[in-house]
Amino acid sequence: SAQQRTPIIAGNWKMNFDHLQAIAFVQKLAWSLKDVRHDYNDVEIAVFPPFTDLRSVQTLISADKLSLSLGAQDVSEFESGAYTGDVSAPMLKKLESAYVIVGHSERRAGYSESSELVGRKAAAAQTVGIVPLICVGETAEDLEEHGASAVPVQQLIKALAQLSADAEFIVAYEPVWAIGSGEPATPEQAENVAKALREVVREQKGDDVANATRILYGGSVTSQNIAGFMKQPNVDGALVGGASLKVDEFSRIAQYK
Ligand code: PGA
Repeated sequence: SAQQRTPIIAGNWKMNFDHLQAIAFVQKLAWSLKDVRHDYNDVEIAVFPPFTDLRSVQTLISADKLSLSLGAQDVSEFESGAYTGDVSAPMLKKLESAYVIVGHSERRAGYSESSELVGRKAAAAQTVGIVPLICVGETAEDLEEHGASAVPVQQLIKALAQLSADAEFIVAYEPVWAIGSGEPATPEQAENVAKALREVVREQKGDDVANATRILYGGSVTSQNIAGFMKQPNVDGALVGGASLKVDEFSRIAQYK
């Protein structure tokens, strides 16, 4: 049942905020959440800053004991070596990143990342105890040609095939047409695909993993529409882009009713 899964509201900052802006933002966010977080301690709130901000945000979270989780936006499939420009899972682990996003549609589209590569990145994260947040989603053309769930289901099957250990992972269903468009999926659409994705997890990893795995919706989530998604039995949270860059808005999303 959904009760055994802690909902997570995740802010994907994308390529926004330098480390000084990140410090100011997280301080304001912590202030904005401080009076309510005890009422909402059954909701996990996470931020996913650019690599250059991770050290600053980590310091702030640990020094002030903030109830915020930290994640990165991407990771190399390799542990170390001659990979100019890349950042490894052990490096992220040293910065106390609990999570890492892999397979965001902006990386699949902009850097031709395949689901197999996404799966190998997820496996690299799991090797050091980082929980990968595996993104899947169909384009507008996919939706027209194959319906909503066919492409995300295939993407997840291919990515999960790369995972060896029975370590935790999170799935984010992000229809590409809903990202940054102001046109979110309906809660029913999100639920239907989330349910199909949970069945993929069930087939590949069994009942216990399927029941424990958090499946998020992402794509034009705002404080106005978050509650509808969170009411769905198979939707365990949201991956929020644009709306995660505004303290008040992200704080309202985290306090959905
Ligand atoms: P959005 O982005 O909330 O701005 O649509 C979501 C995402 O890409 O993770």
